Formats: sequence, structure tokens, C-alpha cells
Amino acid sequence: MNHIETDLIHSGNAFNTSRSVVPPIYQTATYYAPPGVEEFIEAATAPRYPHFYQRHGNPVSSQTAELLARLEGKDAALLTATGMAAISTAILSVVKAGDHVIAQQSHYSAAGIFLKEVLPQFGISVSYTDQRDNNSFREAIRENTTLIYLETPSNPNLAITDLAFVGTLAREKGITTICDNTFASPINQRPGDFGIDIVVHSATKYLGGHSDLTAGVICGTTEAINIAWKKLLSFGGALAPFDTWLLLRGLRTLAMRVRQINENALQLAQWLEQQPLVRRVIYSGLPSHPQHELAKAQMKGFTGMLCIEVDGKDEPQQFHRAQTILRQLKIFANAASLGGVESLIVHPASMWGKHHSKQEKERAGINEGLLRISVGIEHIDDLIADFAQAFQYVND
Ligand SMILES: *Cc1c(COP(=O)(O)O)cnc(C)c1O
Repeated sequence: MNHIETDLIHSGNAFNTSRSVVPPIYQTATYYAPPGVEEFIEAATAPRYPHFYQRHGNPVSSQTAELLARLEGKDAALLTATGMAAISTAILSVVKAGDHVIAQQSHYSAAGIFLKEVLPQFGISVSYTDQRDNNSFREAIRENTTLIYLETPSNPNLAITDLAFVGTLAREKGITTICDNTFASPINQRPGDFGIDIVVHSATKYLGGHSDLTAGVICGTTEAINIAWKKLLSFGGALAPFDTWLLLRGLRTLAMRVRQINENALQLAQWLEQQPLVRRVIYSGLPSHPQHELAKAQMKGFTGMLCIEVDGKDEPQQFHRAQTILRQLKIFANAASLGGVESLIVHPASMWGKHHSKQEKERAGINEGLLRISVGIEHIDDLIADFAQAFQYVND
């Protein structure tokens, strides 16, 4: 096996049977069926068959999936239309009525809603652990626990889950584990190396990397991916041909992008930590992060995701100042999403808005002064200068 940088360019190329270096976009809903009855049955029913019908598979999907599986160190991967399609499909391919799921107190907002509102509709109960506390996972285990659902670093508060601990615990107890690896990207962290069974991503973020598509991926054993594929056939969340092609194109530069982003984010975090208007910087790459040692043990780099808590005498002032900074930044765009080449910033308390109670927000570490930053690949001096000028508008 080659190094990741090489495989990012070449892995999966065997699926490109055309003579073009870059695969064609198979912009077709369907394919001429093979003439023989046996071959037809195979094409119609084989998991992820690439030339039968778009919802089943697509040659570029096969090529991209092979690369993604390689990135996560898994046998197989399945592409989905969004990250949420990957998360919901992966979870529903593991659990059934009567099961119990262990999740965390902080998860990506829509994943949290899926756990809170969708699973209970089907008689599946969910417990929420403090992911920073290994014991809380052990204590949450019940007779009917079939799944532990993880996210690390978690959105938006960048708490870290001890992957080796949970991976080992779950294997001892015969419980399946799924980890959302979106924030880290496989360049910085591979949950499978710590015994996690299934890895999911919003490929909309670092994997695609250019904020021009939505996509998701599920990585696991061939058996797990075949089960997920069959669920996806019914759920209907296949990734469209053009977005698949864009995802493959974006992936080529993943290692370079993530390395530059890691470097920019660390420098920005170090600078922000020195600013009087910043009460706290939350970045797993800083020694001040309460779980920095754990992060170092399981991550090769610390990503472009960081949060700052704006200082102020009370929450209304923190809120006001955070909004001022957000609005005065010129390079950091106020936009949902993350993981692209461009720097983005959001106010999580507003983004979580009415979907979550105040108590739920607090448990997820979200307060009115919190700003979540996704650092891009711009020049670091310009990124720092942008914050410096925005801070000058805070005048209360
Ligand atoms: C964005 C995101 C998702 C959802 O992905 P979509 O592509 O928007 O459906 C899930 N998990 C995390 C951590 C995310 O950042």
C-alpha cells in the first residue's frame, strides 16, 4: 500500500475503465442491462453494482468509495447524499425496536435531533453520556445496548472521546460502535485504528473541502457496508453523479488542505489566546484544552475547528460582543458548514436556536458568547489581521 498522499491520487482508479485520466461523469439514471439472465440477476441485486441503476451504484461512486475506505483503513465505503443520510442510514442499519443506544451529550445538531426525536418513534431508547468521562460509557450500558454512537472532536464544543477506551469496552460487550469523524478528517484521526467499527462523515466538510457539494460516507467491513447499502436502497439517499465526481476531485488535495488548515488553526488559536477580549479558546491542539493529552494520543493533527468564548460582564454583553465581532470580520464569512478552503464563523447558540432547549445547549457547552470558527487555507497573517480589526469595533 502506498502513502496516503499517493493513494489520494490513485486509489480506486481501477474502476475508471475509460481512457480518460479523470473519470467521466456518469450522468445517467440507468444502464443497458447485461443480456444474460444470470448476469441480469447479478446486476440487479449485487451490492453497490456500478452499472445498473443510479440508486444502486455508479462507477465513480465505486472509485470514490474505494478511496474513502482506504483513507479510514476500512474494507468498504458507501456514499450518501448528505452527512445526515450517512448517519441515519448507518444507525438504522444497526439498531431495531427494543434496542438501547448510548450517545453523547454533544453531537452535531441534526444528529442530536435524530437521536432525540426519530429513534424513540421506533421504540429505541437513547442515553446521553458525558463523552469526557470514560466511566459514563461503562455505566450507561444495559442488557439491550446494541450501539454506541460517538463524535470526536464533537460539534461545536470540541470535546474529545477516548476512542481506544470506548472501542475496547464495546468489543468486550459485543456492542457496535459508530463514530462521526467529520471534524477530524481521516488525515488527523482514524477511529478504526482504535477499534471503532463504523466511521461516518459529512463529506460536505473536509472530504469535499470546497463547500460546493453535500455528501456523506459510511465506512466499515464489507458486511456492514452491504447491510447499510440495502437500507439506503429503501431510504433513497444515494449521492448524485455530479456531486460524486466533485467529491473525488476535492479529495485529491485532502492531505495538503488539512495540513495547511491544521497549521493555520494552531497559529490563530495561539494568537487568540493572547487577546483580552477572548475569555477562552477551545482548541484541542492547545495545552490549555482540558483533554489535550488525549487529543495528542489519538489525533495526528488538531483540525481547523476551534471555538472562542468572547469575554463580557454577563451573557447579554457576551452575546452583543460576539455578534459585533461576527459582523465586522471580513475574511471569515458568517455561514453554516465548515471544513472548506475558506474560513467561516458561526454563533452556535443562534444556530441551535429553537431546536434545542437552553439546558441542552448548556450540556453541549454552548453559551451566548461562543463563536465557532472553521479555519481555511488563506494566509495566516490575513486571518489574524481580520480578527484584530474586528475586535476594534467592540466598544461597550
Ligand atoms: C455537517 C455535519 C453533519 C451533517 O452533514 P450534512 O452533510 O450537512 O448532512 C454531521 N456531523 C457533523 C460533525 C457535521 O459537521
